[in-house]
Amino acid sequence: MSASARRRRYAPPSNLLAGRVVLVTGAGAGIGRAAALAYARHGANVALLGRTRGKLEAVFDAIEQGTETRPVIVPADLDKLTEPAAEQLAAALTEEYGRLDGILHNASILGPRVPMAHYPLAQWTEVMNVNAIAPFALTRALLPLMEAAADASIIFTSSGVGRVGRAYWGAYAASKFAIEGMSQTLADELESAGRIRVNALNPGATRTAMRAAAYPAEDPATLPEPAEHMDLYLYLMGPDACGVTGQSFDAATWSGPQ
Ligand code: NDP
Repeated sequence: MSASARRRRYAPPSNLLAGRVVLVTGAGAGIGRAAALAYARHGANVALLGRTRGKLEAVFDAIEQGTETRPVIVPADLDKLTEPAAEQLAAALTEEYGRLDGILHNASILGPRVPMAHYPLAQWTEVMNVNAIAPFALTRALLPLMEAAADASIIFTSSGVGRVGRAYWGAYAASKFAIEGMSQTLADELESAGRIRVNALNPGATRTAMRAAAYPAEDPATLPEPAEHMDLYLYLMGPDACGVTGQSFDAATWSGPQ
């Protein structure tokens, strides 16, 4: 699908997220960077979480120059996220903004691409920490703040190998299955209250550093850029998706709000 065709799937108003606060993990590069910029351009104050301060500062500067919103930088290595650190983040967001309307759990690592029989335990643990345990720990710490919002959105980033396993994708595939399970379970728990929607989103093949590492022989020019998926990322984050919960979305095949 061409970029212009993608953009026609959903046309969010420029003030879609005005006054809202959104946390984006892995906001310094790739899809997370594109989402942070898109959310800010649509009015959100974005908390930029990542492990490389220089990348976060570049996104912070782009948001400050291009919007009237108030971003903050949250340096954190999700491999080492402790329970107290997650609680401190919740306290810092409460102090800075007093509210939280959305989380995009986007940060992730690929890990080694080897047979499971040879997969080192330390690397399995690191992939699970970043891709699955940290999203749980952050969500649990931040839920009380989100429960105060009129409507809020949690987006977990999935993958094709989080739905059907594939040889040599090891912990990455297992972590994405965990993400799908977490998304469905939390959505079911929160559905009756009706205020927090929870969905999983598979961006599909996208022109980023992670994709290049996974498919070094592929021509990146054949892939969509992160910005081309932002209609779906905006739709799920904003109030037009109220009531949409417990679903798994694919950016490559999504045809717009139903
Ligand atoms: P990138 O590798 O380009 O970006 C990943 C981001 O996560 C970076 O900002 C990185 O920070 C951050 N990150 C990695 N480890 C940590 C950590 N320990 N603590 C904090 N932040 C960390 O990935 P993509 O943009 O391609 O992927 C984004 C999401 O989309 C991921 O969840 C991925 O699994 C998913 N996905 C991507 C696909 C694709 O084709 N690109 C396909 C299907 C799913 P830093 O730059 O500082 O390392």
